[in-house]
Amino acid sequence: MKILIKNGFIIDMTHKQENIEIKDILIENEKIKKIQKDIQETADKIIDATGKVVMPGLINGHNHVAMSIFRGYSDDLELQDWLQNVIWPIEDRLTKEDIYFASKLSCIEMIKSGTTTFNDMYFFTEETAKAVEETGIRAYLGRTIIMNGEEAEKRLEEAENVYKEWNGKAEGRIYINLPPHAPYTCNPETLNKCVEMAKKYHIPIHVHLSETEKENEDVQKEYHKTPTEYLKDCGVFEVPCILAHGVHLNSKDIEIIKKAKARNCT
Ligand SMILES: [Zn+2]
Repeated sequence: MKILIKNGFIIDMTHKQENIEIKDILIENEKIKKIQKDIQETADKIIDATGKVVMPGLINGHNHVAMSIFRGYSDDLELQDWLQNVIWPIEDRLTKEDIYFASKLSCIEMIKSGTTTFNDMYFFTEETAKAVEETGIRAYLGRTIIMNGEEAEKRLEEAENVYKEWNGKAEGRIYINLPPHAPYTCNPETLNKCVEMAKKYHIPIHVHLSETEKENEDVQKEYHKTPTEYLKDCGVFEVPCILAHGVHLNSKDIEIIKKAKARNCT
């Protein structure tokens, strides 16, 4: 199968590119064979990219894709007020079908605007997985682990089932990760269990971190350490880790993250 993309502004992301030029790209059997001006070859499919940018797909590092249906809903509140008094109560009423269609809408929006991979944490994860399978996007998905004790146990069981059912599915486009919600919603026991499961299946952890000053204050009050130190002491950084937000980190936190197998994304 040969695909020829004609006349696009080529951005190759090598950091060596001085000028953005109009060129053609020839793809053969899913591999880029040539990038040059005016390729004169026959192809099974020719795409006219005149006036368009051609670049590697964007990666959306942190998401709850089904939440796109809440876009603009009470968006003028502080995070904790918004979560506890607006979002969590309506999330309790979401059905599996809601999650499926909302995820599908987000997948389509991402594809249309150039995102080809996203990293997600939510619930009814199997419904988001179906949306990924059907739309052709690539995703890291996980069932959020929130709360503690028996509640967390139930969610860990769901997370494990999602891993068994969906990891590597959709022609290898679905990767399952393990997402404890945040330092302020997961106690050490829950985090230790998450680390255990991540090690067992060799999957990354995806967790919110230091999203607000209030989170830092609350964790400091309860555990006498920063959220980053708390995650480290619970063993979270012993596995590859994606940290969402990291807005309020101090220089010691940044040093801890540098040494860990962790990446921060906003
Ligand atoms: Zn989030």
